[in-house]
Amino acid sequence: MTLSPTLPQVQTRITVTGLTKVYPQPRAPLTALRDVTFAVREGEFCALIGPSGCGKTTLLHILAGLTTSTSGTVTLPERRPGQLPTAVVFQGISTLPWFTVQQNVEYGLRLMSVPRRARRERALQHIRQVGLLPFADAYPHQLSEGMRQRVSIARALATDPDILLMDEPFANLDEQNRLLLQDELLRIWQEHRKTVLFVTHSLDEAIRLADRVLVMSASPGHIKTEVVVPFDRPRDYRAIRQDPRYGTMSAYLWDVLREEVLRGRQV
Ligand code: ADP
Ligand code: MG
Repeated sequence: MTLSPTLPQVQTRITVTGLTKVYPQPRAPLTALRDVTFAVREGEFCALIGPSGCGKTTLLHILAGLTTSTSGTVTLPERRPGQLPTAVVFQGISTLPWFTVQQNVEYGLRLMSVPRRARRERALQHIRQVGLLPFADAYPHQLSEGMRQRVSIARALATDPDILLMDEPFANLDEQNRLLLQDELLRIWQEHRKTVLFVTHSLDEAIRLADRVLVMSASPGHIKTEVVVPFDRPRDYRAIRQDPRYGTMSAYLWDVLREEVLRGRQV
């Protein structure tokens, strides 16, 4: 008798099935998501792209528990004591201006009732990880936008979530800072191996960061296609850009996306 080889057990961290979201609106209800179905594995870095207004933020908000769905199911890991299943990093300014960097990073831990000393230590550890230790006592307005996004990342990671939800976190940054922060995020991700769902409008960013890219249709959004990104990690950006597969993938994703963007415009 031959035994079948034991495959490593890969758990699914996010399972979304038949998810629909309808916003009640004064004139007519607006269907933002229609029958969205996908799954993300434990430790996977998954990018989500789609035309503006197709429901990406809505989807992330549902996963984060910030809004409810109209129908369908979302299955996330069980909430463990002292730990939140998800943490979110939003686009633009998501730091609290009246708090210092340290207080911002401690904020989620405070909501989780982590004792003061442990809170402080955990916050400092994550502030160090994003390279902001000299700015622990600074206020957000004293920092650049890129530094503020690093504070948001530290704050999200400090709560030790199973899943990190990122909604165009680097969209407001200039190209150079975006490239630097992408590197930094990948470095941090290699250490923690959190499950990540990363919304971006940049095809390049999606290919550079993710293990898999999900493409959403124009509104009402559903998952139209997906592409597995074959590049090894740690990733070397220059090598990726020179790899012929980069061009093929990028062209394919744009073909699919372009069609949806044009369709979305006609509505
Ligand atoms: P994306 O992030 O892909 O640009 P959103 O999820 O922000 O898309 O929006 C999807 C659609 O839902 C848009 O048409 C938007 O106007 C609408 N929408 C988003 N939030 C609300 C809300 N709170 N109330 C009503 N409509 C909303
Ligand atoms: Mg959005």
